Amino acid sequence: RTINVDLGDRSYPIHIGSGLLQNIGQYCAEAGLSTRSPLLVVSDSEVAPRYLPALEEALRQQGYTVVSHIMPAGEASKSLTVYEEVMTTAIQAGLDRNSAVLALGGGVVGDLAGFVAATYMRGIGFLQIPTTILAHDSSVGGKVAVNHPLAKNMVGAFYQPSLVLYDLDTLRTLPPRQVSSGLAEVVKHGLIMDKEFAYWCREHADELLALNAEALGYALERGCAIKAHVVANDEREHGLRAILNLGHTIGHAIEAVGGYGVFLHGEAIAIGMAGSALLAVKLGRDRSIYEDTVSMLSALSLPIQLPSEYDEEELMEAMMHDKKFKEGRMTFIVPDAIGVVSIVNDVQESLVREVLAELKKEGK
Ligand code: NAD
Ligand code: ZN
Repeated sequence: RTINVDLGDRSYPIHIGSGLLQNIGQYCAEAGLSTRSPLLVVSDSEVAPRYLPALEEALRQQGYTVVSHIMPAGEASKSLTVYEEVMTTAIQAGLDRNSAVLALGGGVVGDLAGFVAATYMRGIGFLQIPTTILAHDSSVGGKVAVNHPLAKNMVGAFYQPSLVLYDLDTLRTLPPRQVSSGLAEVVKHGLIMDKEFAYWCREHADELLALNAEALGYALERGCAIKAHVVANDEREHGLRAILNLGHTIGHAIEAVGGYGVFLHGEAIAIGMAGSALLAVKLGRDRSIYEDTVSMLSALSLPIQLPSEYDEEELMEAMMHDKKFKEGRMTFIVPDAIGVVSIVNDVQESLVREVLAELKKEGK
């Protein structure tokens, strides 16, 4: 399966399938990478032991010189400190303007390696080899970044890869919670744009959770295609791209208040999407939007309820801080139906408080 991300002269393909990793050498050659310039593979301590040796071997067989940098797994590595360490590896390895950075891992590796690629000598080649389901979201769209101690994703760039290689075989070793978390972003792509696909996810939830290659391949293809479509129409986030934030206003607040790592990102936005659906009902939309949304999320083993220990006021404060809302009015992505959303700019603060309170009670 191949999807094209249509961005004029920065367009690139996403290949999805089994056994692709072995062919990375040919893909690099096709992408025009010269064997005279070294390649830098960035990976993490969970992914590297499993998949890095095969990747390095395939690249060397094609005649490439490969240097690898393995960072500790986890969000804490998306830092300026690790960024500098990877830069050091790149300089010591003698990467030049024709070199490329290959990101082998989840969204953390992809975001950091992409920012290295965007800034090393003002920009060199960049290839994404995502190994999480969530990374179908982060590897498409060109946002790369590291965190600042004061704010997540604060230091970054728009930088498109020249290729995304999604080898489904690598997903087999993902822990079950990471699988569900990634599927939250998959079903989100259905909820914002593709009703049939959203219901398809519910129908095929068990196959998706079991990492059935056929089902997963299709789900990632649709997820990537929807993201690619949105990004192609709004690369720099002037308007349309905002719809990708469905569930994220509440989700980010949950992550900020609860602490990163209590809920995985996809789990937090699942609760956020349940919240957006509740908000939709409060704004007069059909109640079935909420019922269908939570049945989809539950089918994928995702949480739909806000744990009672989360304080509404703290969450409200985190949302205000996140988005700098004006005069008690907040912006939310609100479903009008399954597969259709609106950007609503004037949601009253009090209504959001009600949603948070109900999110603790609903879905029991
Ligand atoms: P992650 O990269 O931390 O991966 C999750 C965990 O799974 C890690 O511990 C990792 O080591 C492990 N792992 C990865 N692949 C594995 C495999 N195949 N087998 C076993 N374990 C594996 O996190 P993620 O969920 O992939 O991505 C989250 C990050 O993505 C966040 O930093 C977020 O900000 C970012 N993100 C970016 C965008 C974007 O547009 N750039 C979009 C969404 C999310
Ligand atoms: Zn997200």
